[in-house]
Amino acid sequence: MKKILIIYTGGTIGMVRTDNGYAPKDGYFRAALDAIPALHAEEMPEWELYEMSPLLDSSNMTVAEWNKIAALIAERYDRYDGFVVLHGTDTMAYTASALSFMLENLGKSVVLTGSQIPLCEVRSDGRDNIITSILIAADERVHEVCLYFGGTLLRGNRATKYSADGLIAFVSPNYPPLAEAGIAIRYRKSALLPKPEGTLRLQRLESVPIGVIKVFPGIQFSLFESIMTEKLRGIVIETFGAGNIPGDGDALLPIIRRAFANGTVLTVCSQCPQGAVSLGAYETSSALKRAGAVSGLDITTEAAVAKLYYLFSCGYDKERVKAMMEQDLRGEMTV
Ligand code: ASP
Repeated sequence: MKKILIIYTGGTIGMVRTDNGYAPKDGYFRAALDAIPALHAEEMPEWELYEMSPLLDSSNMTVAEWNKIAALIAERYDRYDGFVVLHGTDTMAYTASALSFMLENLGKSVVLTGSQIPLCEVRSDGRDNIITSILIAADERVHEVCLYFGGTLLRGNRATKYSADGLIAFVSPNYPPLAEAGIAIRYRKSALLPKPEGTLRLQRLESVPIGVIKVFPGIQFSLFESIMTEKLRGIVIETFGAGNIPGDGDALLPIIRRAFANGTVLTVCSQCPQGAVSLGAYETSSALKRAGAVSGLDITTEAAVAKLYYLFSCGYDKERVKAMMEQDLRGEMTV
């Protein structure tokens, strides 16, 4: 019989009503799971629950919690066939992206899920999300970090939260779903990562100083000059369309040059969820290209941030980080 470890980190799924709105409550979750008969049905794999402490609203997730979750998986890797991480939806795509880089040579499935409505409510979407995630985690076809929500299995580092209140809360605009859970769970074999060779290796992350800048019409780039110190290791710049910034780049160039001199790696992503950055396609993006920015192609901002953390934590120098930001490491970008 397959054995799955459920790691409960917090999030709406296990929250209860309080005077200040929904919040996690220590010790409540096990009882909530025990109250779902299907989880104890014969056809379900065996599962065990590990409750993290403190339980968090995922807005409070940091690199420290990513390290904790990844270490839990790595330490218990041989004892379980797969892992389900219950997590708040707000930063689930960031955690999924981070875990995908941290767990090198992952040969089992790590499925992140949660819910928009807590289990304590009658209309909770959490029941199906947990049950189906456990079944997916026990399936030997999946060897990657993925995110199951609202009937669809997505690659974790391709997912992005799309709805604040819909039950289909995540999309993967640049990569097809890995599976669809209708009457049966149908896997898209061609979309799944192959089983890696080699043994699992955990790369812990450091709290590397990273920034994200979203451009908008009329942006005064000079305001950002003061944050461009040598402390800043990486910046993700969310540009218009295929990598365009306002003006001819004159306003941004001194800032990029300063970043460059300081050794900061500047990665260009798009504000458009779908499609890829193509630096130099327009005059408005060639300044970025000339100044040595790297193209994030079709990567999500979530995955770009996680990848910067990962590459700097590996101890690579700036040139290597730049080169690897443009390479596909875990299926996070289409090269
Ligand atoms: N604020 C919650 C969280 O991310 C939202 C959710 O779980 O859906 O933890």
